[in-house]
Amino acid sequence: MSRGLIILDAGHGQFGNPYPVIEGVYEGTRNFVLAGFLKSALESKSFAVMLTRNAIEDDPSLEERGRLAGDNNAILFLSLHSNAPGSATPPDRYNKVRGVSVYYSMSDEEKNLPIALAFGDAIAACMDTENRGAMTRAYPDQPGVDYYGVLRHSAASGCKCAFIIEHGFHTNPEDAAFLNNDACMAKLADIEAEVIDKAFAI
Ligand SMILES: [Zn+2]
Repeated sequence: MSRGLIILDAGHGQFGNPYPVIEGVYEGTRNFVLAGFLKSALESKSFAVMLTRNAIEDDPSLEERGRLAGDNNAILFLSLHSNAPGSATPPDRYNKVRGVSVYYSMSDEEKNLPIALAFGDAIAACMDTENRGAMTRAYPDQPGVDYYGVLRHSAASGCKCAFIIEHGFHTNPEDAAFLNNDACMAKLADIEAEVIDKAFAI
């Protein structure tokens, strides 16, 4: 018997967000590679796993991605991404910003915050990069409602244990080199599966 269903959401589509520092590499492709490694790592720990993108070219809406969690009674929804600086970042800083950020659903702060902190610590150590912390973002003028669509729709459909992990910045040469390496991705998947294993230990 499985320990519960986990939804892995590889962010964007195949050609979403080109890496500015490595030509021909895309965030949406590397997120998909990470989801594949993480699926195997979680299945080996007896979790059941569903992907929001079964083929690399799939690109469902944010609502379809999030709803998959509640509609299938998932215990965890995990959206996999890498980051890029905001438009206010000065050009001379753009490639220097790096580090891991973990956003968690505000719908269950008590349960989600410790898991978000554990992800941040483990991933920043694995990637040898900065840990920018665990955070929430509320919808403007709607306190308690998640700003990010996948978190909002996961929680609304019934899965409140929902996270977006920004695995470093694909705009930073060091973070991008890590993310573009399959062996590093496999290592990252293993440590994330360990965090999940502990979070859902019986
Ligand atoms: Zn992204």
